[in-house]
Amino acid sequence: MSDHKTAIVTGAARGIGLATTHLFLAEGLSVAMVDRDAEELQRAADGLERVLPLPYDVSIPEQVDAIMAETIQHFGRIDCLVNNAGVADFGPIEDTSFARWRTVMETNLDGVFLCSQAAIPHLKKTRGAIVNIASISGLRASTLRVAYGTSKAAVIHLTQQQAAELGEYGIRANCVAPGPVRTKLAMAVHTPEIIDAYHDAIPLNRYGAEDEIAHVIAFLCSDKASYVTGQLISADGGFESTGIGLP
Ligand code: NAD
Repeated sequence: MSDHKTAIVTGAARGIGLATTHLFLAEGLSVAMVDRDAEELQRAADGLERVLPLPYDVSIPEQVDAIMAETIQHFGRIDCLVNNAGVADFGPIEDTSFARWRTVMETNLDGVFLCSQAAIPHLKKTRGAIVNIASISGLRASTLRVAYGTSKAAVIHLTQQQAAELGEYGIRANCVAPGPVRTKLAMAVHTPEIIDAYHDAIPLNRYGAEDEIAHVIAFLCSDKASYVTGQLISADGGFESTGIGLP
């Protein structure tokens, strides 16, 4: 078993997942970097020490089993699971095909279920931690995000289930709800009007940065949060604390 604590970070090829990987490495952890975009993952992992790039899809059970098996084979332990891989989709219920609905649910919800379930036997051995990445879209409805918002609301509940069920094994489960961050995922769907509306609705008047979300994730994974479980932390510039509507 490696002396270094080991984290699995899904969606690690870019954005919030890559920032979390860099922070974990700086804190001395080893990281299994999971992403279904094999080329971007390899670029992200090049030159990093104590990483294992795993080009797998979190929504496919056989690939999730491979993530756990290869992480254990390489590092010998799993201390933290960060369920960060996600896809965005904009559309109200009348315009959202079932195929689009399923695509969102497969990654954003099924992926969290599958990775968590597969990691539990290993997290029991380390009394480890799960951090699930939800969104402010899972806290407040909008006219634009039926699939994405519903998937993220389910992730918030799934986190509470995990905390309730796994506490007896010393496993903690918490959730982060980021506000808008200028990643590829967000900028593919955020129009200039939406960007302006967010600036107005967020008390800090700006988008967040990837590492501002990563620091919250790393805290929840760390021993500093040893008595924190079942919680949701919004890292959103104060958005959720106001009553202003979601763009
Ligand atoms: P991103 O698009 O930059 O990164 C997401 C990564 O996940 C990509 O590299 C992608 O290839 C990977 N991925 C997607 N589906 C996958 C799958 N099935 N299996 C494996 N890998 C998969 O996005 P981001 O903004 O860094 O998003 C990270 C998380 O943060 C997501 O869960 C997202 O919903 C959440 N979030 C983002 C924002 C934002 O404004 N950026 C706001 C709230 C929540």
